[in-house]
Amino acid sequence: MAKYTGPACKLCRREGEKLFLKGERCFSPKCAFERRSFAPGQHGPTGSRGSRGGRGGTGRVSDFSKQLRAKQKARRVYGVFERQFRRYYGHAIRARGVTGLMLLQILESRLDNVVFRLGFASSRAQARLLVTHGHFTVNGRRTDVPSMNLGVGDVLAVREGSLDATYFKELAPLAETRNAPVWLSRDITTLSGSVLRMPERPEIDGNLNEQLIVEYYSR
Ligand code: SF4
Repeated sequence: MAKYTGPACKLCRREGEKLFLKGERCFSPKCAFERRSFAPGQHGPTGSRGSRGGRGGTGRVSDFSKQLRAKQKARRVYGVFERQFRRYYGHAIRARGVTGLMLLQILESRLDNVVFRLGFASSRAQARLLVTHGHFTVNGRRTDVPSMNLGVGDVLAVREGSLDATYFKELAPLAETRNAPVWLSRDITTLSGSVLRMPERPEIDGNLNEQLIVEYYSR
């Protein structure tokens, strides 16, 4: 699947908040949003023309704009293009349960997200790269598809042949500093993990507004 190859930090500035797309850098003073927290294309807070994005001057934000931004933010956080995101929404509608939560669970169960959540990568972008390079197996089979959705009971592991790579040799102590969510089990010594259950809403990014996303697509 294609991916956004532009500057990730621009996406944070566009959304007006930190989306943590670049791993450790996001927590350092090098974070572009810390230095320039205004939308790209503007000339600082004094150059802003009111609402975010430079459109309009009253500062009022329409419902549509809020829904669009909520959807764009989620897409950017998970690194998913529009077509696939819309497909996920279609799956969420057809799934049994609350559509918004179903959508978030589909996004959370993506292989690249699970690799990130297990602490085996510093960002989803890095996780995606590691997956596309074939470093992981799911249920014992090598896979290089970051969008693969994992289900309850699926086991993810670093491929045996990759364990000798410097990155994975040095990964264990690093991964230990990153918390894994309770819906996943993780074995640092074997660099593996499994899905115990789907995440509940409080266990997913609280800054995402799935209700607005549902409203966006049901217009
Ligand atoms: Fe966003 Fe991270 Fe870039 Fe900061 S460093 S602007 S949080 S992607």
